[in-house]
Amino acid sequence: MSVKLLGVPYDVHSSFLRGSAAAPQAVRDALTGGSANWCTESGLDLEPLRDEWWCDLGDLVIPDDAPSAVDVIRSEAKAAIADDSRILSIGGDHLVTWPIVQAVSAAHDDLTIVHFDAHPDLYDELDGDRYSHACPFARIMEEGRVARLLQFGIRTMTPHQRDQADRFGVEVHELRDWDHRMPELSGPVYISIDVDVLDPAFAPGISHNEPGGMTTRQLLDSLHQIDASTAAVVGADVVEINPSRDINDQTAMVGAKLVRELLGMMISQRLAR
Ligand code: MN
Ligand code: MN
Repeated sequence: MSVKLLGVPYDVHSSFLRGSAAAPQAVRDALTGGSANWCTESGLDLEPLRDEWWCDLGDLVIPDDAPSAVDVIRSEAKAAIADDSRILSIGGDHLVTWPIVQAVSAAHDDLTIVHFDAHPDLYDELDGDRYSHACPFARIMEEGRVARLLQFGIRTMTPHQRDQADRFGVEVHELRDWDHRMPELSGPVYISIDVDVLDPAFAPGISHNEPGGMTTRQLLDSLHQIDASTAAVVGADVVEINPSRDINDQTAMVGAKLVRELLGMMISQRLAR
């Protein structure tokens, strides 16, 4: 299998509002609801490729307590990529990225993470919680198994998180300064998209409204700039969609669009080999 889709319905450590555990099903419903076709913008039809080039593993069953949840998500992600497949997951809140990256970085040396988010998620702890969805990139960088972390769309930097970014050598592209050009990337790449990187006007179904965000078009164009001839997208996630806050399934449709484009990018890189 080339790419495996995995639902990771876990939101126990969301600091403000829960609800993102319902996202995998909402995004799946948007994908299969019949209002859109299965073609990527580049014209790759994903539907006939299903089961040969990609499959949906369904949703994980995850225990509530965080250390066990992290163990389960890591070991299931490891199992999913054991046959050299790539993994595309739908969260859940951003905590889920940590165990998934643990699995992917164990299989790929020199991993580069491309992280889109309104928030840097670099807190050492938030409200005493080291498993908070505000902390995953601190946990990932402490482990030292990732070559580069690049962040895009950030607009909520705090002094503490700036210190953390300096400490870990994170390449932060704050949205107020970023020209929307992707730097050159090489080697294996993992893409993590927190949907609150978008302006809430484009994606209202999120837990933390942070105005002044990207348009859906800008995000898609940024993804499309990743050059498959120098960078292989070996894993990706779409996290932090909160269906209980959504309007007319608008954000679920954004999630479905991102899943289609990411699937297409990952599959075309394999088709091109
Ligand atoms: Mn986040
Ligand atoms: Mn965020």
